[in-house]
Amino acid sequence: MDAQNCPFCKIFSGAIAAQIVARSEHSLVFRDLNPQAPTHVLAIPKRHARDLGEFVATADAAEVLDLFKLASEAGRAGSTTGYRVVTNEGIDAGQSVFHVHLHVLAGRHLGWPPG
Ligand code: AMP
Ligand code: ZN
Repeated sequence: MDAQNCPFCKIFSGAIAAQIVARSEHSLVFRDLNPQAPTHVLAIPKRHARDLGEFVATADAAEVLDLFKLASEAGRAGSTTGYRVVTNEGIDAGQSVFHVHLHVLAGRHLGWPPG
């Protein structure tokens, strides 16, 4: 999937609507359409990369820091008693959107290990 056909790039451009909860120079946080916890948001970098491996291979340190800062702020805003950040890469992990994203989950007890 290239940037032209990417739903998360379309959220950046405004072509697809989303409930945006935070934005910064390099990143955006918006609500997941199919929430798995009382707080379930996705933190994404503005620059298209298909997955975490491609992102870290091409990103500069400021982009990576920016993404993790927004994810931790969203997690702490969602709960004072803990939150989870997870990313899925590839078929075995169940990745379904090929623009790297960090899931931030909070607001309920989260079992471990995940399925
Ligand atoms: P993954 O399966 O890890 O690739 O996660 C993709 C996530 O994106 C899923 O949790 C979907 O519910 C979510 N999602 C897909 N399209 C949208 C959208 N347009 N707005 C918000 N969340 C979306
Ligand atoms: Zn994209």
